[in-house]
Amino acid sequence: MSKTAIYPGTFDPITNGHIDIIERGLAIFDRLIIAVALNPKKAPLFNIEERIEMIEESLGRHPKVSVETFSGLLVEEAERRKARVILRGLRAVSDFEYEFQMALMNRNLNDKIETVFMMTGEAYSYLSSSVVKEIASLGGTVDGLVPNIVSARLKETFAGTNLTNEGVFPA
Ligand code: ADP
Repeated sequence: MSKTAIYPGTFDPITNGHIDIIERGLAIFDRLIIAVALNPKKAPLFNIEERIEMIEESLGRHPKVSVETFSGLLVEEAERRKARVILRGLRAVSDFEYEFQMALMNRNLNDKIETVFMMTGEAYSYLSSSVVKEIASLGGTVDGLVPNIVSARLKETFAGTNLTNEGVFPA
């Protein structure tokens, strides 16, 4: 039986940390569905179309990968797409508590779907979409942390905005 995993996230925007998880996931699973959450509550910087476009451009065409959007319960989306595995990445201990809660809650909702965690690549352990947005908003370079298309989009997005020194990172 072919093994399909669903990799859910906000991907606002996709980073090289996400790509590392996707590449390693592809070595294990026959098919990977990247499920982009609408997540209006998180007030994403990029809308759903932009987030999907950046993912598709970064990954190129791949016969084993599809990019979809979803809202609502993840386990229902997994069931609909015939994925038995939810793939998530783990960085620091700080990710653990939330991921632990979500994995148990999802199992409670549907015990046929298993959550599988992959440890972050060492080079990406400090990398998150929020950090990348913060640096870009302050005029810092994010080259090497995100695919080229993402770094170009971030530059466009923040071009002409007033740089402040109020964030975590010095401008
Ligand atoms: P969410 O809002 O669901 O947390 P994200 O786009 O932030 O969406 O993350 C999606 C998944 O990718 C999560 O499992 C997250 O832990 C993982 N992830 C994000 N950045 C990294 C990274 N640098 N290394 C490993 N996993 C990561």
